[in-house]
Amino acid sequence: MKKILVTGGAGFLGSHLTEKLLKENNEVLVVDNFFTGSKKNLEHLLTSPNLEVMRHDITFPLYIETNQIFNFACPASPVHYQYDPVQTTKTCVQGAINMLGLAKRTKSPILQASTSEVYGDPEVHPQPEGYWGKVNPIGIRSCYDEAKRCAETLFFDYNRQHNLHIKVVRIFNTYGPRMDPNDGRVVSNFIVQALQGNDITIYGDGQQTRSFCYVDDLIDVIVRMMNSEEGFTGPVNIGNPAEFTMLQLAETILRLTGSKSKIIYQSLPSDDPKQRQPNIDLAKAKLGWNPKVNLEDGLKETIAYFKRIVA
Ligand code: NAD
Ligand code: UDP
Ligand code: UDP
Repeated sequence: MKKILVTGGAGFLGSHLTEKLLKENNEVLVVDNFFTGSKKNLEHLLTSPNLEVMRHDITFPLYIETNQIFNFACPASPVHYQYDPVQTTKTCVQGAINMLGLAKRTKSPILQASTSEVYGDPEVHPQPEGYWGKVNPIGIRSCYDEAKRCAETLFFDYNRQHNLHIKVVRIFNTYGPRMDPNDGRVVSNFIVQALQGNDITIYGDGQQTRSFCYVDDLIDVIVRMMNSEEGFTGPVNIGNPAEFTMLQLAETILRLTGSKSKIIYQSLPSDDPKQRQPNIDLAKAKLGWNPKVNLEDGLKETIAYFKRIVA
């Protein structure tokens, strides 16, 4: 039995990852400060004797024993990571230093949840891992983008300097059950607005694009990445390359929910990326992975979840 640490394990992705690791018969320690995560996300797992949950902020040192580390702690929604931007940078940078120090002491492989935001507002489309990105260092998204970039730097320096066994995945927009209804991300916002009969808020003209991956596909490849050959560090893009405009997303959600909500247009936040689509050739070749769930099927599952919790 492996002892696995999941930081941010009470969040959206972390709770799905924890569930999968428990199913595979591991012991899991979730460490979370509950800023955006919630015990509710883990409620159905709490009876497992193999799960332990600890309230802790990873910007402070953590001395525990472990065999494997998944570093997921960090708010992912722009609304939440911009709420306390200094804490966001601390979580990404000081948090990474602490988790890398822990990995070094315990000789554990460590996987970093990095992000497509390292590409910023990309000028190369779709984005391959070799593209260095176009990121504003002083904008309202920088506390997340630049801090996640710095975390990648730290991972690769610990690898070069201390021979740490690292894995870096760049996650593209992911959605599914257990997103927080007040999270502010586009999929949860549109579904909750549609179900409650409120206006659907498109920021800008709705022509900006994103590529949405269903959570089950994403968790599958994250575990594959952790179990891949030791020399394969990444960074590797993971996401579903099917690309949609925000207007197409809104129309699809209106159709699937049968909602009478109307679409309204609000101002576009600054530095909002105009387009985003992963090139996943590396994940296909190295991890034998291809996302299976298309947007409509994934949205149906997600809508069913939100119907239960916001009804
Ligand atoms: P989330 O906000 O649902 O989960 C983040 C979790 O981290 C929460 O439980 C939160 O309480 C916890 N946390 C935040 N700061 C912490 C700290 N200092 N110490 C301990 N715990 C802390 O977000 P998510 O969508 O599950 O994202 C998880 C990870 O994946 C993040 O690192 C995020 O950057 C990355 N990611 C997610 C997406 C996506 O589309 N969901 C895309 C790219 C990258
Ligand atoms: N650290 C931690 N848990 C550990 C080992 C280290 O939280 O089990 C933290 C520690 O606070 C340190 C950081 O990780 O500041 C980096 O550790 P490293 O050993 O790389 O550096 P050093 O201790 O030499 O500063
Ligand atoms: N967005 C929108 N309406 C909303 C929330 C978001 O039009 O209610 C847009 C947002 O401006 C961005 C896209 O949807 O262009 C994705 O936003 P999200 O916050 O989900 O993720 P990110 O911008 O980090 O990819």
